Amino acid sequence: MVIHTSQLAQITGGTPFGEGGSVREFAFDSRSLVLGGNIMFVAFKGSAHNGHNYIGALVERGVRYFIVEQGFDIAPYAASNCFFLVVENSLSALQNIAGYCRKMIVGTVASITGSNGKTIVKEWIARLWTNQDKIFFSSPKSYNSQLGVALSIAMAEKEAAVSLFEAGISGVGQMASLQRIISPDVVLFTNIGEAHSQNFASLEAKVEEKLLLAASAKVLITASSNTLICTKAKEVLNNSVRLFTWGWNLVDDVCILSQVQNRGRSAISFKFNNKVYNIEVPFTDNTSLENIMHVIAFYCCVAPCELPGVALRVASLEAVAMRLELRRGRGGSKIISDTYNSDLGSLSIALDYMVSVCDGMPMRVVLSDIFQSGYSPDVLYAKVAEMVRSKGVQEVVAIGEGLISCRALFDGISCLFYNTTDEFLNDLPLMDYSGSVVLLKGSRAFAFERISYQLEEQIHSTVFEVDLGAMASNLDYYRAIVGPKVLTMAMVKASSYGSGAVEVALALEKRHINYLAVAYADEGVELRRAGVITPIVVLNSEPSGYTKMVEYNLEPEIYDFFSLRLFYSESVRLGVAHYPIHIKIDTGMHRLGFEEADIAKLILELKAMSRNVLVRSIFSHLTSADNPSHDEFTLSQISLFDRLSSQILAAFPSVTILRHICNSAAIERFGFAHFDMVRLGIGLYGIGCTEASCSALQPVGALKSVISQIRECAVGESVGYNRQQVLTRNSRIATIPIGYADGLRRSLSCGKWAVEVRGSLAPIVGNICMDACMVDITDISAQIGDSVVIFGLSPTVSRMAMVLGTIPYEILTSIAPRVKRIYFS
Ligand SMILES: *Cc1c(COP(=O)(O)O)cnc(C)c1O
Repeated sequence: MVIHTSQLAQITGGTPFGEGGSVREFAFDSRSLVLGGNIMFVAFKGSAHNGHNYIGALVERGVRYFIVEQGFDIAPYAASNCFFLVVENSLSALQNIAGYCRKMIVGTVASITGSNGKTIVKEWIARLWTNQDKIFFSSPKSYNSQLGVALSIAMAEKEAAVSLFEAGISGVGQMASLQRIISPDVVLFTNIGEAHSQNFASLEAKVEEKLLLAASAKVLITASSNTLICTKAKEVLNNSVRLFTWGWNLVDDVCILSQVQNRGRSAISFKFNNKVYNIEVPFTDNTSLENIMHVIAFYCCVAPCELPGVALRVASLEAVAMRLELRRGRGGSKIISDTYNSDLGSLSIALDYMVSVCDGMPMRVVLSDIFQSGYSPDVLYAKVAEMVRSKGVQEVVAIGEGLISCRALFDGISCLFYNTTDEFLNDLPLMDYSGSVVLLKGSRAFAFERISYQLEEQIHSTVFEVDLGAMASNLDYYRAIVGPKVLTMAMVKASSYGSGAVEVALALEKRHINYLAVAYADEGVELRRAGVITPIVVLNSEPSGYTKMVEYNLEPEIYDFFSLRLFYSESVRLGVAHYPIHIKIDTGMHRLGFEEADIAKLILELKAMSRNVLVRSIFSHLTSADNPSHDEFTLSQISLFDRLSSQILAAFPSVTILRHICNSAAIERFGFAHFDMVRLGIGLYGIGCTEASCSALQPVGALKSVISQIRECAVGESVGYNRQQVLTRNSRIATIPIGYADGLRRSLSCGKWAVEVRGSLAPIVGNICMDACMVDITDISAQIGDSVVIFGLSPTVSRMAMVLGTIPYEILTSIAPRVKRIYFS
């Protein structure tokens, strides 16, 4: 939504300074900040970060609009052409702006609150929606805090048929301000539990606070079994709010007629509007069933015409128990772990979940102290003991001083007590958990992930280790070269050159990367679903992915008139304004891009389309930036790019358009050609193209395995398929579980490559198999279980590329998906 600064001054009550204009986007974090003429930076004072400190740098980079708090000295910027809106409090200013944007949304605005299940219910509603009209969600993850909700609304679209926002609070007084911003027409209240109770005087007080969300709503949806919510709603909400309930009573709007469980699935029959619906869902635990009924009730109330389709599709939902992860453990055990937090509500859900998956296996629970429950320890742990008793748990391991001080409460339950997680880990090798279900439920401080790591089955001992700390240092190396005024786009295409898309993107986002680039729309969708908010460019944007790209806020590379016109008509159809696109120019690569002869026509068409699509950047790609023998050609590419892109810039004087042409090698070798942004790829992953960078960059990826068997073979014997190699001496041969199906190229067989074992090189013997290879360790005192480096610090991937007559890019991107990626930072 485009808002003029004078209007913003009115909305926020702030004092304007400088030359105003139209603002289209807001940013409060320099990492999500893309320079555009119409972006407004909102400076917050957080406990760790103070946004005001970045203003100087942002002004230099061309940002013109700012919201700052009183006390910030704007005098140094008096001579600049910047606009400042000085407010008392930036958060309330942003909330007021969000409130304004809210009024612009014409469709139904719904909001979810409650103690448990908010995020999963929201996700399920989103997943089941297939109507062509748009539904809009707050964000892929739980963006439910004060700032997150304001941001969600700022991202909302006027035309959405239904917009759904999650509202979470942790203390008194917060809901009123969320209500002011969201002002939902419909509220779904999932349930009320003990989480965060400490901050409320009573459960009643907490319900009342949450009900404030429905202050101006038309409908409140909940389960009639939530008696406290229902009674309180009648008490505190005014009569115009209709209570819409689901449950087992005939008076419920959505009335369950039957619920039958069989083999991990439940068949539910319910009545709505005098019609009976039958659905089948793939879970049997009470929590999931409650969540699915919230979803059904939501559709009955908000979009009943969707019901037949929803009833069909619920069968395909997965049993996602959100934070609860179910993994295969050693010895046929099942491991359920929540190592993030522990409170009574989520413990009860976890226990339910364990019962639903236990299948007659003995149940064991490893539990830590629970913090901030609002109860005294004896009351709290009496409840815990009662819960595990009632679920039929065979054995409890209780870790923490609080639990120890209440050990008497666990009388009659087989229970082991430990002071710390470390003490328990010492005993763990002596315990036998095979054949049982183990629930790990611990507060974060107890680091139960260490226990879960020990209990999990190690499926595959070949791993690709990714050192995110090294990657951060490589990023800094290139940032130092380009300086503070040039933005950096990180290439995370092809799963970040094999290193894993999501983990790498999130790590780069933490380092405030300006842009990310992927090859295909689906790769971008994966990142958005994982919560990545940094702007993302899709390089090979195919017309079939355009709708998805707009839905997930992904920006297309446009390389010909066909794609331009198609994307434009899609943007018109979806009703989006000023959608950012990136124009690719062919300066010699002859892969994708507009040519010189196209530019005049391109400008004309772009002008005609400017309401819907907006050029955010113009770029081109160099063919040989790393090869000095082609420098003359590279220079000609750069100058052609400069000339053609300048023509486009001149045609759009009021738009800030970024220009970029440098890949990793060019960043180092063609310093004058950085323009506004550089595209960093292989260098980020530790591979340089000059002597300087080769010694400064740190290797990021290491392909490792272990020795699984060792045998003595006599001279004259052969090793492996086809007897390709006959031993010329008595040898010790080690087998390593990595083969060509993992990405170890078969042409490295018979000594073409050697792996590192205990600091020495062990040559590959015979042909590499699909899942294994053999190496000669005659001269190395190695043992079964020893770690083996295929490539990493030494030998390096660059060396392997040389041996294979290829480039490191190909080797890194050929590591099979089945090789587990492990991250260090
Ligand atoms: C992959 C890619 C890059 C990065 O190249 P590196 O050599 O890995 O730095 C830059 N630009 C485009 C268009 C790309 O496709």
